[in-house]
Amino acid sequence: MPNLALPLDRGLLPQGLVGALWRGIRGKCPRCGGTHLFARFLKPVERCRMCGQNWTLHAADDFPPYIAILLTGHIMAPVIIELGLHTGLPGWAMMLGVAVMAVMLLGAFLQPAKGAVIALQWWLGLQGFAPAPGKAEAGGGQHKG
Ligand SMILES: [Zn+2]
Repeated sequence: MPNLALPLDRGLLPQGLVGALWRGIRGKCPRCGGTHLFARFLKPVERCRMCGQNWTLHAADDFPPYIAILLTGHIMAPVIIELGLHTGLPGWAMMLGVAVMAVMLLGAFLQPAKGAVIALQWWLGLQGFAPAPGKAEAGGGQHKG
């Protein structure tokens, strides 16, 4: 599918990688920030309704779950240590609590992680975004004056 994104005013484009990532993390279109990036929990819209950017060009693959697991593990490790050292909970109750908390954290981190990965790929021109990287589009006007 060709990339038929509509021309955008430079003021609507993210100012840098951090701005694009932040839009993706919040589930907004990384290019225009105007509308939702996701049609369903982990399925991005085919095209942004505001700017026409084709979001089927991404290939986030396993990177978002990797990020979600990394964050969840770093949050859960001290929680598990504290529970083990300072509570008298039986083993089964601790395991149940830890499993529930881990699933909740993973669910909370997955979509923001996927939004960030899509934004990163768009900004850097990776995968299907190679012909029109966000970085080139956002920075293109700076050199023209
Ligand atoms: Zn957009």
